Amino acid sequence: MAGLTADWARDWVRLAAASVAEHRAELGALDRDIGDGDHGENLDRGFTAALAKVQDGAAGTPGAVLRLVATTLISTVGGAAGPLYGTAFLKAAEAAGDADTLDGPAVAALLAAARDGIVLRGRAEPGDKTMVDAWSPAVDAAAAAAAGGAEPAEVLREAARAAGEGAAATEPLVARKGRASYLGERAVGHRDPGAASSALLLAAAAEAAGSR
Ligand code: ADP
Ligand code: MG
Repeated sequence: MAGLTADWARDWVRLAAASVAEHRAELGALDRDIGDGDHGENLDRGFTAALAKVQDGAAGTPGAVLRLVATTLISTVGGAAGPLYGTAFLKAAEAAGDADTLDGPAVAALLAAARDGIVLRGRAEPGDKTMVDAWSPAVDAAAAAAAGGAEPAEVLREAARAAGEGAAATEPLVARKGRASYLGERAVGHRDPGAASSALLLAAAAEAAGSR
């Protein structure tokens, strides 16, 4: 199978925008429970804008598409998540470089770069009840799949599965970063909204790869 192309990246943005729109209320409710309630709105605005930017097809490589997404998210999504996701997509774009296609190891490297960008920006560690708790297991699962010779779509499916499990596993945690950290024990029993949205984004990436 050929590697993932700019069309994959565009499909990722399209499916991510659709998924965020579909789950907008749910992400808002999660953020109302342990934050200020704006996470669904913020991301919906950002991915709607990102989709408009990439749709004309001018960006010719996966890296160019991801870079457009990064700059759009940085300028349209407020709060904590805007700069964090913006950095994630920027680092992913850098990892993709100017390659026309991405194979399994390149996809795993792209996800690792995104996670590293989030950590660099937000300084959260695994277990702090943030989006890092979705990205970290996703990166590990992607690396293992790629090392085993998996195709890019399978690498992304593994990442998405692990991200979903990681997001669910934030429920019993006390938050040590972001707004939810002000709540202490009261954050226990609630899923972190950023981890939940990260799982949606990675599921969209896998779906985009699987449909090609
Ligand atoms: P805000 O908290 O400014 O309202 P959002 O609601 O858009 O921003 O995003 C909240 C999400 O951002 C949290 O659920 C968490 O996953 C993530 N987050 C917050 N601070 C950090 C951080 N320092 N590192 C990683 N992720 C973080
Ligand atoms: Mg919020």
